[in-house]
Amino acid sequence: MRTQIVAGNWKMNKTVSEAYDLAIELVTGLRAVRETEVVLCPPFVSLTTVKSAIANTMLKLGAQNMHDQDKGAFTGEVSPLMLAGLVDYVILGHSERRQHFGEDDAFINRKVRAALRHGLRPILCIGETLAQNERGETEAVLSTQLHAGLAGVTPDEAARVVIAYEPVWAIGTGRAATAADAQDRCAYIRAQLSARFGEVAAAMRIQYGGSVTGANAAEILAQPDVDGALVGGASLKAEEFIAIVRSVKSKL
Ligand code: PEP
Repeated sequence: MRTQIVAGNWKMNKTVSEAYDLAIELVTGLRAVRETEVVLCPPFVSLTTVKSAIANTMLKLGAQNMHDQDKGAFTGEVSPLMLAGLVDYVILGHSERRQHFGEDDAFINRKVRAALRHGLRPILCIGETLAQNERGETEAVLSTQLHAGLAGVTPDEAARVVIAYEPVWAIGTGRAATAADAQDRCAYIRAQLSARFGEVAAAMRIQYGGSVTGANAAEILAQPDVDGALVGGASLKAEEFIAIVRSVKSKL
């Protein structure tokens, strides 16, 4: 069975000391959680601080982005070599990176393969915009982003990849997908993964992301093909994020 995974994407929020305080609150509030994998993704500058706050706990650490090259003249960028050994996961292809920083599928694919080469677990984000959704293009968009993002990835490597289905229109809007729609899309993604990677697809985790809160998490996370959540805004409030993690029920 798939271990459910809830990740908090703190985006460009929290100073280093605020990040430490939030991590400590989460360590305390999530002490009893054993069966769900919980990943905190603070900004780069807070990674080492949060790492020390969650040391000797079940909580894992993730980065929000990275470059695909190991080193070089890429001012302001952070490389997979720098993240290896520091974080377990790295979010790649988030819609905010695609939208505001012009990241395309080819670049995201190079990052995915670089992460895998360095022993990092990519959380590959895919999702349609509102306009694409309204034009009935959702499945085509998901298929394109998924296959392009995973080009050149072997089935063994795919087992280490988490997919986050994040409809762009649901991110930060307070308008989450319905549980039925989240299930539908995640099942579609799993079918695509199955066509590409065979039986490995049954073991791959697929998260839903987009306005997940303590109030709507239980229903969304109960869906058979939804293996957890990627949480933005609600991951900045300890109580809310703890409520989301606690709403994960065993699917055994
Ligand atoms: C996200 O940024 O990945 C996200 C899902 O944001 P929010 O939960 O705020 O919609």
